[in-house]
Amino acid sequence: MPKLLLLILLFSTPLHAQQTQNLFLIIPDGLRWQEVFRGMDSSMLTKENKAEPAAPLREAFWFEDLEARRRALMPFLWTTVATEGQIYGNRDKNAPSRVTNPYHVSYPGYSEVICGFAEFSITNNTKIPNPNVSVFEFLHAKPNFAGKVAAFGTWDTYPYIFNSLRSGILVDDGIAPLTRGTLTPTIEAINTLRKETPRRWSSAHFDSLSYRAAREWIAANTPRLCFIGLGETDEWAHEGDYANYLKAAHRSDAYIRELWDFCQSHPTYKGTTTFIITTDHGRGDHDGGPTAWFNHNAQTPGCEAIWIAILGPDTPALGERRDTSEVTQAQIAATIAALLGEDYNAAEPRAAKPIAEALPSR
Ligand SMILES: [Zn+2]
Repeated sequence: MPKLLLLILLFSTPLHAQQTQNLFLIIPDGLRWQEVFRGMDSSMLTKENKAEPAAPLREAFWFEDLEARRRALMPFLWTTVATEGQIYGNRDKNAPSRVTNPYHVSYPGYSEVICGFAEFSITNNTKIPNPNVSVFEFLHAKPNFAGKVAAFGTWDTYPYIFNSLRSGILVDDGIAPLTRGTLTPTIEAINTLRKETPRRWSSAHFDSLSYRAAREWIAANTPRLCFIGLGETDEWAHEGDYANYLKAAHRSDAYIRELWDFCQSHPTYKGTTTFIITTDHGRGDHDGGPTAWFNHNAQTPGCEAIWIAILGPDTPALGERRDTSEVTQAQIAATIAALLGEDYNAAEPRAAKPIAEALPSR
């Protein structure tokens, strides 16, 4: 080969070729940055917070050392993601992350995550079909993603958020039976359990009934882009049940680890899969009073604060971020597309730009 041609080839090849072929977006609903970065708050182990007796919670989640404490609550996040990926949002280390919508409730938050901007006509959780084309719908319309995009969650509003009617994306709400794609006997059994297990919440079901179906469906259908929404963190918090809120956070972390381990053992996913883990909104803090953490809305201070974690072959292992400029929920949509080698900003000019430091360096 002539030397000149060799040189041209060398210098025209990107230093780091895009490796992400598949992406999972996983959202434990309303899980505060305070518990993510500080672990369990022992001052919240009160009767009012349904956290008595406190001894079992202390046994499971309490360490004087902050790093040991948060690792006890979310071990996958604070071992694998913290060493191999990136975690944004620690306000104690000057790395804030926030939502840009002013409402601080779920539908506006999920819409901002998947569409890349605040939609001012979506102010609450009313079930209206999303007027905007999300990055999920944008990618689903491309031939190499068609039929390879799916969403699983625990809430009957997700089909509206992803506009399943218009987008054609499979959106499983965790309540109705899962009927699309290749189904397995395990999925059929979970469908029966969904029907027969009394629902604690009027529009949501337990995380296990969504996650277990998703996990099984993913193995059988290998989606390239997949959302998993885990709602129990938010539901228990609204009940003021700190014990179950913490356990739901811990279980979410275990689900994420299990899915990551599955991906690393599967030929379709191994080494080619990125996880983005975040939340749709924050919740109240002590400043708002002892029960402010129960809720989240525009009036309660602190509900704009979120966290974002990214783990995958293209994302530099910068770990827990400190002293960063603010990253926003609106940046996630374009980050998803960019990691998959697509340009969402070109299709949706209102979308915020990707989180640059989460992308491969060129
Ligand atoms: Zn909520």
